[in-house]
Amino acid sequence: MVQKVDLTDANEEFQEKVYVIADEVLNILKELSRENKQKISSKTIADKMVWNESVKNALAFPAGKSGKSFIDPVALKGISNEILDKFTVLIPSHISDNFSNLREEIHENIPDVTSTDWLNTPIELIKQYIDYISVQKAELEDLMKQTMDCLEITEVQMTTGLSTQQEQYKSDRIFESTLTSDITTICTDIDKPGNLAKIKVAIKDKIDRINKVINSKKQDDSIRLKKTEDTIEEMSKRMSEIKREADEIRRKSEEIQYEVYQDSLTGLQNRRAYDQKIEEVLADVTRYNVTASLVLCDIDFFKKINDNNGHKVGDLALKKLASLLKERLRINDFTFRYGGEEFAVILPHTDLDGAQKVGESLRAFIDESIFSYRNQEIPLTISVGISLFRKGDTTSTVFERADSALYMAKRSGRNKVLTEEDVTEQQNSPTHSDNDELNIMRT
Ligand code: GH3
Ligand code: MG
Ligand code: MG
Repeated sequence: MVQKVDLTDANEEFQEKVYVIADEVLNILKELSRENKQKISSKTIADKMVWNESVKNALAFPAGKSGKSFIDPVALKGISNEILDKFTVLIPSHISDNFSNLREEIHENIPDVTSTDWLNTPIELIKQYIDYISVQKAELEDLMKQTMDCLEITEVQMTTGLSTQQEQYKSDRIFESTLTSDITTICTDIDKPGNLAKIKVAIKDKIDRINKVINSKKQDDSIRLKKTEDTIEEMSKRMSEIKREADEIRRKSEEIQYEVYQDSLTGLQNRRAYDQKIEEVLADVTRYNVTASLVLCDIDFFKKINDNNGHKVGDLALKKLASLLKERLRINDFTFRYGGEEFAVILPHTDLDGAQKVGESLRAFIDESIFSYRNQEIPLTISVGISLFRKGDTTSTVFERADSALYMAKRSGRNKVLTEEDVTEQQNSPTHSDNDELNIMRT
């Protein structure tokens, strides 16, 4: 991609910036002389300039006479990279290849800020993502509908089955009462005085009737039995269809669950999963008084690895590092990709000492592993910050303590493991003062 920047316009912008700054320097000098400062050094002027709104505006967003705003392509590239890095943890695996190509492209080229063409690829990617989600949603809805239809049919069959049984019951009762009344008549006939031949005829007549009733009952029963058998067969077919569809729904939702909670690059659980787990662990700590620790690992100077080898190699390094972390940890520890090159590990039933040992073993393991790409070694180390879940903690407070320890590990040379206790010790040490903090803020 060819970078087009209108230099004439940029020069005008630049000149105008210089005028604004020169004006402000003049004003500051006047102010300082009014204050009767004995010594006016470049530092005193610079200190005043830092807080000066016009200077800040001139440096940050210079506007040309043309009224056009001047976009710094390098800054834009930085911002784009930052946005893509944040977005990467949300990308489902099937579009992650396209996504890393896009990142590579932006990493290699400075966007052409005079045209919006460079936005097309990210927009296309977002569109793909939205399409994918919509298709999945439609598929699930379809499956649900099919299952509901199936259930409806089964319900009808069951009610039919029940009414067949009711009919059977009624017909049995009728048969029973006919039989009872016929037998009663036979008994009465026998008791009647009269000639034997007449009684014989009457009894034969009744027995014929009984036989007829029994035969017709047999016929009715076998028809009903056939009907019931058919219904049962149909119902069991439906039931296995429902089971198959329910399995499919479960599989689909597990797939979606995987996409939602898994980081596609490293295969670790992602930030969403971390947010849920930390809430759960915190609830356990508060309710059941269990012990747990949080370990934050951040790759040292990862930006340099990307800058020197490209984002694709950076991605490979992230993948490998994630698998090493997982390999080193126990099966019931929870490992997450918290963000770009940051990993969080929740260690259940582990106190600060135990967590420090785990952190140290992770750090040493990574330090001792040799990463290389095409025979070129890539120096990779991590800094680690650790905190202990405490009663009364919120998800932010426990994270912030680990993050402060991590920050201190970075400041004290990187490739180190520090805990929240190290931070407290340092804050309470006599050499620590507010001034130190002010100096830290200024750098
Ligand atoms: P520090 O030792 O202070 O942590 O330095 P650093 O360079 O690691 O930290 P910084 O926050 O300055 O830069 C983090 C870098 O991580 C910048 C960003 O491009 C990169 N990064 C974040 N996510 C990804 C990713 O998914 N893939 C690749 N290749 N790089 C990523
Ligand atoms: Mg970081
Ligand atoms: Mg880092």
